Amino acid sequence: MVFLFSFCLIMPGGSSGADRREQVEAYLLRVARIDWRIRRAALKDCPVSAMRPGFVLDARSAYMAGKEARLSDLPWVIGFTDMAAADGALLPGDEIREIERVPVSQLMQGADGQILPEHILAHIDHMVPQASYRLEVQRAGHARSVDVPARALCPGLTIVKQGRRGDAFSDLHNVAITTGLLDKLGSDDAVAFIIGHELAHTIFADSRKGPLSRRDKESRADLYGAHIAACAGFDPGKAIEALAVVRSMNVGGLSLTHRPYKVRQQAIAQYLSVRPDCQAAFTWERGEK
Ligand SMILES: [Zn+2]
Repeated sequence: MVFLFSFCLIMPGGSSGADRREQVEAYLLRVARIDWRIRRAALKDCPVSAMRPGFVLDARSAYMAGKEARLSDLPWVIGFTDMAAADGALLPGDEIREIERVPVSQLMQGADGQILPEHILAHIDHMVPQASYRLEVQRAGHARSVDVPARALCPGLTIVKQGRRGDAFSDLHNVAITTGLLDKLGSDDAVAFIIGHELAHTIFADSRKGPLSRRDKESRADLYGAHIAACAGFDPGKAIEALAVVRSMNVGGLSLTHRPYKVRQQAIAQYLSVRPDCQAAFTWERGEK
């Protein structure tokens, strides 16, 4: 699907603040690690590239105002997308003060006025690309400078949105997936296909008017999702299961914009009967199912 969306990471009530944060951070880390592999593999198909460090951050501002008052105002490292990329320069729990001399308070500011840790990655994607970035961090109460290595990838974010509905969507720049869909998808391979499908919409700028029909764009995104999941080392065959899950959560809801699920699943199976060429740019011919 293609929609604009706003950032939101607030989890349903019932659990304590610390429990809720742990829950949110588990979703953030899982999605960030899958997204990293997909965006690294998608570099060959992306019109632009970015150099990004492999850390995953959380911040108080991502939670309901006032409820987490004891947490630091600085975003903190919750883990890494790629241990080799992280190179030991940062540790979980490190609080980030500055990146390339820009205060994080500035980097967390989004174009939409919201202050969130996700915005930091969007700002880094727009910085002058570097093999490593200089960070000022706070570790166990002490300030220190660290150089964090970066890797080339296809820019943009995959945002986790709280919600029981089985949704994934995208605009021209970013992808979003709901916690409801993540819970039902099960394997990371299935999540990789969904992220790859939505990433295709951003790479091919599908929300702009073009020669392709909406259904053709969806068919191309299906094949790209399977293609890039395979190239990122996931099991692309799990795309078939992923579509079955989406179907079970959206009964009848996508029939106007997408081809029938059976047709989509057959098209993916047929595409995967030949090993995807991950060195070459992805190509798709109009009229393919
Ligand atoms: Zn789509």
